[in-house]
Amino acid sequence: MGRYIGPACKRCRRLGMKLFLKGDRCKMAKCPLEKDYAIPGQHGQKGKGSRRPRLKDYGVQLQEKQRLRMMYGMQEGQFRLFFERALRASGVTGEVLLQALEMRLDNIVYRMGAAPSRRAARQFVRHGHVRVNDTKVNIPSFKCKGGDVVTIRDVKQAREYAKPHLEAAEGTQPAWLQVEKGAFKATVDHVPTREELAPVVNEQLVVELYSK
Ligand code: SF4
Repeated sequence: MGRYIGPACKRCRRLGMKLFLKGDRCKMAKCPLEKDYAIPGQHGQKGKGSRRPRLKDYGVQLQEKQRLRMMYGMQEGQFRLFFERALRASGVTGEVLLQALEMRLDNIVYRMGAAPSRRAARQFVRHGHVRVNDTKVNIPSFKCKGGDVVTIRDVKQAREYAKPHLEAAEGTQPAWLQVEKGAFKATVDHVPTREELAPVVNEQLVVELYSK
């Protein structure tokens, strides 16, 4: 399966929304979306997206899906799989989809503050630096559940990497995650409800797109 290796900020400029793909830079004034940015492409216009082409229904739905998918750094095939699982599960499909995305191990590592972005968290997991319930897990899409304990492996390299990020993230972690900074540990208190979830996308539009 291919993976996108082009410029991250281009994706945000295309979709007109901060997707937080680059860690610390996303919180700084250097972020192109904080400035007078141009839409990518030959005819991209300057002016904070104010001159974006008007989208029809399908375009709006597609844009919303792309925002959500790219925010979590997923390829279309895997994202679609998550949607189909959410469709089969009981509950409101859009909310179940968001919960499944949020329960990915790479996302939990990002949310607890051990890595500055989901992309960095993904690599951190792939390198075997994370344990779930005392078992090494190196699969970024691993599905966590309520009660799971995620720990950063007790090796110098891993903890030295995570420490400054955990300190910087103090106080910003979501309430459904109990973070013990000193122990390099986070416990999933419960699966978050829609109100507790951060994505600012309209997940209903994603459901409508895939239900066509
Ligand atoms: Fe780039 Fe981050 Fe800003 Fe997106 S949010 S444009 S990735 S700096």
